[in-house]
Amino acid sequence: MTVADARPLALDDWFVRDLGGLYRPWQAAPAPSPELVALNEGLTAELGLDAEALRSPEGVAVLAGAAVPAGATPVAQAYAGHQFGNYSPRLGDGRALLLGELVDAEGRHRDLHLKGSGRTPFARGGDGKAPLGPMLREYIVGEAMHALGVPTTRALAVVTTGEEVARETVQPGAVLARVASSHLRVGTFQYAAATQDADLLRRLTDHAITRHHPHAAQAERPALALLEAVVEVQASLIARWMTVGFIHGVMNTDNMTISGETIDYGPCAFMDAFDLSTVFSSIDHGARYAYGNQPRVAAWNLARFAESLLSLIDDDAERAVELASEVVSSFGERYTRHWSAGLHAKLGLDDEQPQLVQDLLELLAAQHPDHTRFFRALSTAARGDAAPVRDLVIDREAVDAWLERWRAALAAQGRPVEEVADAMDRVNPVYVPRNHKVEEALAAGVAGDLEPFRRLVDVLARPFEERPGLEEYAAPAPGGSAAYVTYCGT
Ligand code: AMP
Ligand code: MG
Repeated sequence: MTVADARPLALDDWFVRDLGGLYRPWQAAPAPSPELVALNEGLTAELGLDAEALRSPEGVAVLAGAAVPAGATPVAQAYAGHQFGNYSPRLGDGRALLLGELVDAEGRHRDLHLKGSGRTPFARGGDGKAPLGPMLREYIVGEAMHALGVPTTRALAVVTTGEEVARETVQPGAVLARVASSHLRVGTFQYAAATQDADLLRRLTDHAITRHHPHAAQAERPALALLEAVVEVQASLIARWMTVGFIHGVMNTDNMTISGETIDYGPCAFMDAFDLSTVFSSIDHGARYAYGNQPRVAAWNLARFAESLLSLIDDDAERAVELASEVVSSFGERYTRHWSAGLHAKLGLDDEQPQLVQDLLELLAAQHPDHTRFFRALSTAARGDAAPVRDLVIDREAVDAWLERWRAALAAQGRPVEEVADAMDRVNPVYVPRNHKVEEALAAGVAGDLEPFRRLVDVLARPFEERPGLEEYAAPAPGGSAAYVTYCGT
């Protein structure tokens, strides 16, 4: 039996069946000598796929796009999008293909998607390729996010193609196989709405509802209920980004999912020193997508999503705008609720302590301690040793005063300190993908040594469990990381 007809890679084509008008059937460019660089064993098992089959030459050919599983219809998906605020009516998968959907025992569909598989009709000026470094970055950061409990697309595999790809440097060409609950984006709706094809927009809306937010089908106005569901999942997602210190870097509307999963890890990074103005992307000159701007940008993107749905919300345009605006403006309250719950959990607080939280944020903004270390050190402070927290700030008096109030609040809850501190350790990670460790792993990987990549992925798979010997993964960059930049030329 070949992989092409092996059960593990049987793919459905739900998107293709439902959404003619939103894709172009397409084939990957040939890969001269595909080689498997990384296979996500955990995800492979979770999906019920056969790792052995994926490692075989036939399996690697599928992961590289060089072979198509039996019955599959690979397509390049169409979408539009606002990039840094400017509207592009036609973006689409310029270098990616949807192979089809994996279906689990519960009937849940997950896209199997290739990135870096060659030029498509949407490629515009691009070469359709992806260099190995950025594909390894997407693998590392996506797996870290998953382990941190943040909804995300996940890398299944990275394959090098045997070609070279020129960016700032020449790198091995690679294809990332990724799994997502779908690739429907805000930009997909913008594209469908712009075609003025009412039937297409309705089919897309129905598909998104059935696939991601089925309760919306029962609502009086399903499109409005879909909008509300997406506002809710995005409010929850962005709150999680903020509490772990994640900066996406390119929150364009084509990089915002309807499912509520994080997608497209380009110039992304985890913040080291707490600073709302942190930007890592080399192309984000206006700091539009800075750490502290992310909630505002999400709300702006959701307003674009709402605009694309107006014709389905009410026949009376004014009424549609009124209804949609009300839902979009609920983002702030929803976001604050999720974020506040996340922050209270990080602080071990059972009850709302808005002043305590507010004062902490001001302290962080003034003192710029390492974000990840600061929160992790708080459980040690709860257990009685404040030194690790104090070591992270300059104004120790200010932090002492805050710690005293915080400890009093914890004591008033009446729960055993050890229990509270343990719960804090389950939400405040020790290990996040620190920029210098990611760069180290990518540089070695591109040079042919994948050991640092594997080790980093392994460390990040259990972020909350402090392990001896891994101190270097929990520490900030030796000389600070002020100059760290990630490039969008991915
Ligand atoms: P991204 O910034 O990765 O979200 O991509 C934005 C748009 O540019 C999408 O339409 C991509 O398909 C397209 N794109 C990015 N890189 C390339 C490339 N090397 N070749 C063709 N299209 C690309
Ligand atoms: Mg994208």
